[in-house]
Amino acid sequence: MPDQALSGESVFKGNPVSIGVCHGKVYVLRKAKLSIPHYQVPEADVQKHVERLEKALAATRVQLNAVQGQVCAAIGAKDASIFDAHLLVLEDPTLIESVTNEIREHKVNVEFAFHEFAEKYIETLGAIDDPYLRERAADMRDVSNRILNNLMGRTDHELRDVHEPCILICEDLPPSELALIDRKAILGFATDVGSKTSHTAIMARSLQIPAIVGLQDATHKITTGSHVLLDGYNGLIILNPTDQTLFEYGQLIRRQVGLEEKLRDIQGLPAMTICGKRLTLSANIEQSSDTQAVKAFGAEGVGLFRTEYIFINRSTLPTEEEQYQSYREVAAALKPAPVIIRTLDLGGDKMLSHLKIPTEMNPFLGWRAIRYCLEERDIFRAQLRAILRASAEGNVKMMYPMISGLAELEKANALVEEYKTELRAEGIPFDEKLEIGVMIEIPSAVLAADSLAKTAKFFSLGTNDLIQYSLAVDRLNEKIAHLYEPTHPAIVRLIKMSADAAHRAGVWCGICGEMAGDPLLTPLLLGLGVDELSTAPPLLPQIKFLIRRLKMDDARELAEFALNCDSGKEILERSSALAKRVAPGLFETYIPK
Ligand code: PEP
Ligand code: MG
Repeated sequence: MPDQALSGESVFKGNPVSIGVCHGKVYVLRKAKLSIPHYQVPEADVQKHVERLEKALAATRVQLNAVQGQVCAAIGAKDASIFDAHLLVLEDPTLIESVTNEIREHKVNVEFAFHEFAEKYIETLGAIDDPYLRERAADMRDVSNRILNNLMGRTDHELRDVHEPCILICEDLPPSELALIDRKAILGFATDVGSKTSHTAIMARSLQIPAIVGLQDATHKITTGSHVLLDGYNGLIILNPTDQTLFEYGQLIRRQVGLEEKLRDIQGLPAMTICGKRLTLSANIEQSSDTQAVKAFGAEGVGLFRTEYIFINRSTLPTEEEQYQSYREVAAALKPAPVIIRTLDLGGDKMLSHLKIPTEMNPFLGWRAIRYCLEERDIFRAQLRAILRASAEGNVKMMYPMISGLAELEKANALVEEYKTELRAEGIPFDEKLEIGVMIEIPSAVLAADSLAKTAKFFSLGTNDLIQYSLAVDRLNEKIAHLYEPTHPAIVRLIKMSADAAHRAGVWCGICGEMAGDPLLTPLLLGLGVDELSTAPPLLPQIKFLIRRLKMDDARELAEFALNCDSGKEILERSSALAKRVAPGLFETYIPK
């Protein structure tokens, strides 16, 4: 239950992660811990409790069938088969027998008997040394929650069942769940936890859903059905907005419309500073349908195709053929613009429940990305062959995530050579000159940038991870979000070192982390010498608008200042001041609350 019903306007502040304003009714999705009643049942009521178990199992079956039907329609029968395991639990004779016996013998209520059984079952499965069986513990947990909801008359809040337009407020919204929402129904969302560089936030920007994270306890203070305004510019949820507030936001939206017109005017023009320095502006995408946005927002190509999303929300791995079709579709749609496909970066906050990846204490420091791919050869082979085949379109480039040094780059490249030989023998065409670059997102890669640049054809700085690893700040942990500082002097120096190393070797250096999409940082990044910025397509027009108003002398002077400055705060202030001086119109979305 919410702490108290709030009446009148009240404001909740979080971190804005995806721009836009929306208002409407709230849907609060809370995965609260169930408290299970425990009482003795008189002999006369025992049979009633046994029957309640049967009814709850039947109701759960109906719900699961419905969910399975929806998933099947949305993403295919194969993926919907993941619910077969859940349905099987409902038929399990041990479950029915044990719970019934417990009710009859010990005269306890059905909720308690069922909960005791389920917990023991989950604990036993979870302790088994086989990762596949451990996964079944998650299935059991899911089904058991549904059964308990039914026993206790709680509604089952299924995100996929939300079809009325609303603003979603929840504790967390993992990328795999966000991928399933009905985009027309969810006007915007806000979460208690999360940070700007979580993949949830990144996806929200791609999907163009206004979003806020890190609201701490909004799910406890706001109730379903209340009216809120979500301000994705300033990270505000305004509960019961007054007419005055709605009026102010009406003006903000009008200013945005005016700005959008100005941004459209420069749509076909290059990202070139006043003094003639040309930058490349590319898009970050997650799926083939994103190519429309790439074109609509005037990107010059794709700087980062996060291929993980082809692997998420399905119960089996995509085949080489399926992957080839996706990569080829993107390359063909954007030809001749370059498309940089990043090889699989699973791990961290992008996990697949059906892959047997053991749970790790520190997943971001663990078996992730290139480390995983270099060991799981079948998975890597299918992807590399698919990318190579798609490269026949002529505009594909490829990069590896999480490269820590030359040895990994060489190992991965050796595999590419092996698969090229296979394809040649099979007579399958591919681009013999496929350019392969590396993501620079581990501090060791910056320190080894000179040696990497001899082999890599380009660098793309994954600043989301580079900041997390350099400053030792978990990018998902909102408690330490204030320590996650893109303009920290160390980060500024790491960017400069990477760009310099790339240029010494005659290769280009881009940024595809979230820093690339923050206009307040554009002057700094230009001054540090990066050649390309790649970000969510909707953010590109404003970055271009700014670049076209900048002079390199000012940007270089700013970078010089930053490289000699001890304070990240001051660096941010100086870069923001320059950005606001040259393009004040870009920053008129601030409403002090
Ligand atoms: C990054 O780390 O900056 C990056 C672009 O990769 P991801 O966010 O997918 O980890
Ligand atoms: Mg990364």
